[in-house]
Amino acid sequence: MARVTRFAPSPTGPLHLGHAFAALTAAARADRFLLRVEDIDQTRCRPAYEQAIYDDISWLGLTWETPVLKQSTRSAAYQQALDLLSEKGLSYHCTCTRSDIRAALSAPQGPEGGPIYPGTCRNKPHPDGALRLNIAKATADLPDLSFIESGQTFRFNPRQLTDDIILFRRNEGFAYHLAVVVDDAFQGITEVTRGADLLPVTPLQVTLQHLLGLPTPTYHHHRLITDDLGKRLAKRDDARALSKYRAEGATPDDIRHMIGM
Ligand code: GLU
Ligand code: ZN
Repeated sequence: MARVTRFAPSPTGPLHLGHAFAALTAAARADRFLLRVEDIDQTRCRPAYEQAIYDDISWLGLTWETPVLKQSTRSAAYQQALDLLSEKGLSYHCTCTRSDIRAALSAPQGPEGGPIYPGTCRNKPHPDGALRLNIAKATADLPDLSFIESGQTFRFNPRQLTDDIILFRRNEGFAYHLAVVVDDAFQGITEVTRGADLLPVTPLQVTLQHLLGLPTPTYHHHRLITDDLGKRLAKRDDARALSKYRAEGATPDDIRHMIGM
């Protein structure tokens, strides 16, 4: 079977060494390498950053299939997935603001580091607001699930998931977790290659795949590129932007050496 991987950056800042590692890793593991522009949150995305994605990864020597999938064009597909969850009674409206949630004392930390939603709106019928997944209801009848991580089977009990994640927010649109599983299936991705920071949310995404009747790809979560102090590179680390190294005369081979490839 052809191995299909993807690189899925958000055009919210310049690509840095960590993105180069992610893109090169995904391409090296693929028969078909796809690009997906995760521009779902239009308030944070910039066209210039999107163009820079194409410039930077072609400079690295990568080629990808066209047309590139842009999440900003995929609302109908995300809405269909949302409708499916709503028809099964697995979502509810939530009118809490982020500070309401922070104020709910003793909110434990979720796998992404943010607070776990305390469930304030779960049993209140609200006509509008954001949409959340009722995780307890959604997972009540699911068996144990599994996915393959770097060749090893990783089993989990979906009933241990406790966060009623956001599926849709009025201002920001569809949520990342929903979009990513819908698009990986739509693009026929066989292996999701991405940073180790996303391993903790993979059981949730695999659970969403089951709820939506989507296939589960295999996963390869790779190491994260850190700075000299061992801190993970972030979008704001413009000092490590690929375009900056390039302007200073670095070659794609120099970049490979810097990230140990
Ligand atoms: N767009 C996400 C990012 O920039 C990647 C999501 C994924 O690979 O699943 O980190
Ligand atoms: Zn709420």
